Amino acid sequence: MALAEYRKKRAFKNTPEPKGAKAKASKELRFVIQKHNASHLHYDFRLEMDGVLKSWAVPKGPSLNPEDKRLAMMVEDHPYDYKDFEGVIPEGNYGAGEVIIWDEGTYEALDPDNYPLKKGLVTGDLKFVLHGQKLKGAYALVNMKQAGPKNWLLIKKKDKYASTTDITKKDRSVKTRRKLESLKS
Ligand code: MN
Repeated sequence: MALAEYRKKRAFKNTPEPKGAKAKASKELRFVIQKHNASHLHYDFRLEMDGVLKSWAVPKGPSLNPEDKRLAMMVEDHPYDYKDFEGVIPEGNYGAGEVIIWDEGTYEALDPDNYPLKKGLVTGDLKFVLHGQKLKGAYALVNMKQAGPKNWLLIKKKDKYASTTDITKKDRSVKTRRKLESLKS
């Protein structure tokens, strides 16, 4: 089952993260990007698909510049309600450290007839449009086949939202306006 690996890594009596259930069917697909200060700072990029969150860890975070190709390591599926998690994973737990909701919103396939999302996940070529608070417009997640199934690139596609602005400088939670640093105890 999709969330077995997620649950195996966590002791839910010791961490405030959700144990998780599948999403109810809804028309709009959600995405979230969580900035996570674990052993290495990274951004967790998550797309709702089949009731769970398909997840990639992006060390440098997303870019608005189509010339930047950001490494995105595929990680285990996370439960749908993980999209609402912001807080501190206590020391001694998997992924210990602070998490903020850096961006969130809805997304859709860029070209659903030719590139349906589920097929893109299998072929390693996902093309989608984000409707977030920070990220907007067309993006692609492309598997680097020669580097293995977990190694992907997150790339901004050229459109009116493309720019050379460093979007990671906008470092507050879109949910609470907090910075990651302010969650440290
Ligand atoms: Mn993470």
